[in-house]
Amino acid sequence: MSKGHIHHIEIYVSNLHKSSIFWGWFLEELGYQSYQEWEKGRSWKLDDSYIVFVQTEDNYLEKSYHRKQVGLNHLAFHADSRHHVDAITRQLKEMGLCILYEDLHPYAGGPSHYAVYFEDPDRIKVELVAP
Ligand SMILES: [Zn+2]
Repeated sequence: MSKGHIHHIEIYVSNLHKSSIFWGWFLEELGYQSYQEWEKGRSWKLDDSYIVFVQTEDNYLEKSYHRKQVGLNHLAFHADSRHHVDAITRQLKEMGLCILYEDLHPYAGGPSHYAVYFEDPDRIKVELVAP
């Protein structure tokens, strides 16, 4: 039934506390529920997929993430509606977070792609797309 769907994604973060606040807010807005919590990690689950955030060990913190380097560029999530994208955009701004490609927002992905792009605390790009 879930063949081929993402089972889970695990992301190492530079500051678990900061990432948990940000991702907890965002994922719970999307209907995820807190799933696992331990000293070095947290996860949130929706249906049969979950996303895990783990504190990077000190020894590995030196080289920070950059989405233009090899590796993950961004994570994109389905929104409920255009209103949902707008509501999240408003909340991001209220939290003082920056909207990427703001001059083109909400059509930075093209004229038929209604989305907001922003960054997590480690500057991993996140996209929320209306149906
Ligand atoms: Zn995308």
